[in-house]
Amino acid sequence: MADVTRMTATEIASLIASGEASAVEVTRAHLDRIAEVDDRVHAFLHVDTDGALEAARAVDAKRAAGERLGPLAGVPVAVKDVLTAKGVPTTVGSKILEGWRPPYDSTIVQRLRAAGTVMLGKTNMDEFAMGSSTEYSAYGPTGNPWDLGRIPGGSGGGSSAALAAYEAPLAIGSDTGGSIRQPGAVTGTVGAKPTYGGTSRYGLVAFSSSLDTPGPCARTVLDAALLHEAIGGHDPRDSTSIPAPVPEVVAAARVGASGDLTGVKLGLVSEFSGEGAEPGVTAAFRDAVDALTKLGAEVVEVSCPHFQYALPAYYLIAPSECSSNLARFDGVRFGLRVGDDGNRSLEEVMSLTRDAGFGPEVKRRIMLGTYALSSGYYDAYYGQAQKVRTLITRDFAAAFEQADVLISPTTPFVAFPFGSRTADPYQMYLADLFTIPTNLYGGPGISVPCGLSEGLPVGLQIMAPTMADDRMYRVGAALESVIGTLTPPEL
Ligand code: GLN
Repeated sequence: MADVTRMTATEIASLIASGEASAVEVTRAHLDRIAEVDDRVHAFLHVDTDGALEAARAVDAKRAAGERLGPLAGVPVAVKDVLTAKGVPTTVGSKILEGWRPPYDSTIVQRLRAAGTVMLGKTNMDEFAMGSSTEYSAYGPTGNPWDLGRIPGGSGGGSSAALAAYEAPLAIGSDTGGSIRQPGAVTGTVGAKPTYGGTSRYGLVAFSSSLDTPGPCARTVLDAALLHEAIGGHDPRDSTSIPAPVPEVVAAARVGASGDLTGVKLGLVSEFSGEGAEPGVTAAFRDAVDALTKLGAEVVEVSCPHFQYALPAYYLIAPSECSSNLARFDGVRFGLRVGDDGNRSLEEVMSLTRDAGFGPEVKRRIMLGTYALSSGYYDAYYGQAQKVRTLITRDFAAAFEQADVLISPTTPFVAFPFGSRTADPYQMYLADLFTIPTNLYGGPGISVPCGLSEGLPVGLQIMAPTMADDRMYRVGAALESVIGTLTPPEL
């Protein structure tokens, strides 16, 4: 049998459904691959060998009993360590949650189990999903399989690196400002941020609750759509979950794969398609836009004048929400507790715990957010940022009157070397320049590989109106039908 680790999720599922491979064989092949390469890649924080094999055996038993299998039954999946899975260590890349084994499954994990997928383990991430390189993980960085001296993006670098290293065919990420799409772009894989509220936040360790969105990562657009459909949809346990069915993303990906975009209007965001990106990124993006035109799409220039304020507005809103959400890590309820020797006050123990448990970037965000929310500054910072958010939403609304989807490069630059952007926080924040507007608006966005620049992957971002996630899958699959999937050098 051919090497299953090189196959798509769709191919693996059909091998299992037809009985040509068992789910246990497929799982073992991926566990072997992890054992072979992950000491170099470090995509995983925890590999759940027993849990994975048990889930795989259950799928094989179901098939043997003649029960119907879902479209992803037996397919391995890697889950970003921001989502709880019952009894499985969940750290969020932070020392403050070291050793915590949550007593419940997040909705996403529950749906992954219900779909018969096999959870291989938990993937590395920037601490509390704050970062763009995984260098802020308290457990050491992840390497980009294209060049192990470079970052795999962040915060979900572990999930995307696991795909590019053929350790898993599917992965889950979470996107607050770009953390699914940016790692997808720089690892040459696909990453989709669903409409906010289209996927459940129940059991997702909160960073910025009005922005956090879990979503699918894969090596092909169709695989991402299948995963999206499996995890998406209304969840009564998340108060911001949208009570509507998942948009028809799988059907749209299949339509797009035919390579016909006749009648589709692509809005080229003028503010993002010229300056602001590396020349190699702009060149790959422009070539991809030409390719989309050849498929029948019409390209119109759209202007979104307030997108330039998205980054500063995000760095007020996200830290503000984070300062509130992270107050719960107090050394009493979860994980780490420092200095509790019987002689210290509760306040001292909290302070020592938070000082030891949080890394510098998380502390920076908490301080920024606390400042932005403090009385006297609230209107000038947080209130002002909320107004900008409204203006950005209006820009999207106006642009979607002219075009079906908007397009831009996903990131301004390709994967950068470790250490090259850690000295100045602003340089790191710039990695999400093009992805953040979508989060502030709440719509969906996908990154699909569109070529290489100096041998490193470039991603094209497709943004759609809220709950029109299907549109971005159609265009993404059409692009993939011309570009193909990108294959990194052998590890
Ligand atoms: N890089 C951005 C940040 O650090 C986005 C993170 C994310 O999407 N989780 O906030």
